[in-house]
Amino acid sequence: MRMKNNYHTHLKYCNHATGVTEDYVCEAIKLGFNEIAITDHAPIPVDFMTKKEYKDNYCTENMKLEFVPKYLKEIKESKELHKNEIKVLSGFETEFVYDREAFYKFLREQVDFLNLGVHFFKNKKGHIIDCYNYLSYKNLEEYKDTCIKAMETGFFNTLVHPDMFFYGYKNKDGENIFDDLCIKVSREIIEAAIKNNVYLEINCNNIKKEDVAKDMNLWKYPRKEFWLIAKEYKDLKIIVGCDAHAPERLSGFHVDAIYKFIDELGLNVLEKMEINH
Ligand SMILES: [Zn+2]
Ligand SMILES: [Zn+2]
Repeated sequence: MRMKNNYHTHLKYCNHATGVTEDYVCEAIKLGFNEIAITDHAPIPVDFMTKKEYKDNYCTENMKLEFVPKYLKEIKESKELHKNEIKVLSGFETEFVYDREAFYKFLREQVDFLNLGVHFFKNKKGHIIDCYNYLSYKNLEEYKDTCIKAMETGFFNTLVHPDMFFYGYKNKDGENIFDDLCIKVSREIIEAAIKNNVYLEINCNNIKKEDVAKDMNLWKYPRKEFWLIAKEYKDLKIIVGCDAHAPERLSGFHVDAIYKFIDELGLNVLEKMEINH
């Protein structure tokens, strides 16, 4: 297997994945990995938004705040137990809400590093917008601004699935096309990643079916157009992330398809992630 390190892994504690740390670590050892990071979805405090926004943005599909100490203890135990076989890192995948920096600082202090995963953002009117269902030409810049503002805080080592904005993106005519605005936003995200020394991740998890894996033109993310722009930037640091939500998703047709994608596009991907933040 070509992948040797994976820095994006979920556990059952987020309520939409299966398995505990040991399941993933043992699977990673079997696969011959050198490093694995456990990065489950961090808790989102309820006072970050209205009750309706909390529900509409799937915020209960994240770890509960009270569970954090147990989560950290579990990772620490696996780290110790397997120290001669594999390097186990602790992390979170977190959202970013403006004016709540103290919370992200708190999260950063608990673990080895943080992944930034922007699944929703606060728009100029102060409303929380779900990226999967409500991204359009009207608010794509606000998604981008959230990514950049978060990277500038220095709390995040990697921006995972930066191109996820294309998933439900709609232009003026309601079409899902990678248009000039998508190109502009992609460039700004990539340039901010370089400036702030943040890795961008090519994410494997959205390839759910084997027939989809065969045709990269069907993929919403990773999106070919985004990564072809990224290729122009020689200083950009790119890594691959499984984003596994089940132990068996640490390998398989989806990961193989991603490496094929990387080769076909001629992308330069880093095997090992350094902790820079
Ligand atoms: Zn998830
Ligand atoms: Zn994830």
